[in-house]
Amino acid sequence: MTFDDLIVQTITPVSHNLGDFKVHRSLPSKGRTMVGPFIFFDQAGPAQIAPGQGIDVRPHPHINLATVTYMYEGAFLHRDSLGTEQLIEPGAVNLMTAGSGIVHSERSPDEDRAKVSKLSAIQTWLALPDRVEEMDPAFEHVSEGGLPVIEDGSARARVIMGTLWGETSPVTTYADTIYADIQLAPGGRIAIDPSADERALYVSGGDAALDGMTLTPQTLYVLRPGTSATLMSVDGGRIVLCGGEAFSSPRHVWWNFVSSRTDRLMQAREDWEAMRFPLIPGDDQEYIPIPQGRPKTVSYP
Ligand code: MN
Repeated sequence: MTFDDLIVQTITPVSHNLGDFKVHRSLPSKGRTMVGPFIFFDQAGPAQIAPGQGIDVRPHPHINLATVTYMYEGAFLHRDSLGTEQLIEPGAVNLMTAGSGIVHSERSPDEDRAKVSKLSAIQTWLALPDRVEEMDPAFEHVSEGGLPVIEDGSARARVIMGTLWGETSPVTTYADTIYADIQLAPGGRIAIDPSADERALYVSGGDAALDGMTLTPQTLYVLRPGTSATLMSVDGGRIVLCGGEAFSSPRHVWWNFVSSRTDRLMQAREDWEAMRFPLIPGDDQEYIPIPQGRPKTVSYP
């Protein structure tokens, strides 16, 4: 196998320094908007946050998408306009389905602000299929013990969404979706099978190679449909596998909004400016305003 036999697209993220930490955004990118339902792919951190400091992603809205939060290190307190208040820690997953509209905030928990804390996370958004774009908003949390883990001594993979290596995550999916957190020990290897129409690999830390070809960290590699390969690591690495079914209709992104219709994006923009979205119980004093002019590429946090 050559590189081109396995990889159809290589996406270098846009990286931004947000003061306390760095964000690497692979999706949406100039060359590609989606991999399966994944339309937004951010690696945040790793970062060390000094005592007295914390991360505050103030209340902001979403529509027609679902957000998936997965922490490597550190914790976030999630609050939303449904009244949810949920601490998320490494190995757990938050799935927030915006549907017709939701407002949420993500903040460092108070206990983290008293000490040196860490932040390292993968934040993704999933586009919703046409038929459920305007569904009622929903939130679910699955704790660390609730996600299946495949382990063989030198490889450990957690199935965050969908079915992989014969194990199925309990997290709700609206389109066919695969999402896994793979950790390889030195010399570790794991099979990457043709488990979805569209698939991508992203090395978030350490080193990894696919059928012997080195994968550059902080790069999203879109795999050729139908191919099988072996993912391996020399000194140990952490890799994201994500993807799912190809969408038949295009999606548009504006700021925190995703939709199949551009007029719906502009409606959401007007609704947020006019404060027609619901408030978050317990976090209704602050908000992130609509960006003036063209939204900055990185609006998260
Ligand atoms: Mn958000």
